[in-house]
Amino acid sequence: MRLLIMGPPGAGKGTQAKLIAEHYGIPAISTGDMFRAMKTADTPLAQQVREIMNSGGYVSDEITNQIVAERLAQSDCDAGFLLDGYPRTTAQVNTLDAVLDKRGTPLDVVLSLLADEDAVVARLLKRAETEGRADDNEETIRVRQHVYAEQTAPLLDVYRSRELLVEVDGLGEIDEVSERVFTALDSAVGGRDGSPVTRN
Ligand code: AMP
Repeated sequence: MRLLIMGPPGAGKGTQAKLIAEHYGIPAISTGDMFRAMKTADTPLAQQVREIMNSGGYVSDEITNQIVAERLAQSDCDAGFLLDGYPRTTAQVNTLDAVLDKRGTPLDVVLSLLADEDAVVARLLKRAETEGRADDNEETIRVRQHVYAEQTAPLLDVYRSRELLVEVDGLGEIDEVSERVFTALDSAVGGRDGSPVTRN
């Protein structure tokens, strides 16, 4: 299965992405995790990524598209993949389209996790306390919600118009949400190509 998971920062994408990946036996590729790993290096690029992430803005499309294209070229993506946090801009959608087109591997489904803003902000503030992520302070959280609404939320319409979008309520206990997600994905993908989806 080849899919994207989308939703506002704090909707629980990372948690659900890991569960989905495990369940369907595909790699979960999180650009946020890749950038967090990258920003600790002592290089000009790492310094740039660090500053952008700490401000709540987006890393450039050029850098982001390049790391994703390289990751998708690895052999573990041959069986499918889940992209978490990518694409986030129209330019990234276009690049992903071109990369997948070249591989001859179109997306099967785009999962949108729904969550209201107050709930996600509260969740991120709690995570800032427990995990101490540098990009989780209150001001950055507000900027990230705003950037998401402006640049990334409109992409949902693109995938809706391609009839790939599946929306799932992201609020509730983790297991409750993942059951909802598996049911929605099985019926979307199974329904689309007419065959049952293999679960691990
Ligand atoms: P996330 O963990 O997905 O919320 O990402 C954390 C941060 O990494 C974001 O606030 C951005 O600064 C950066 N980032 C992650 N994915 C992307 C992307 N697709 N495009 C640009 N910046 C990204």
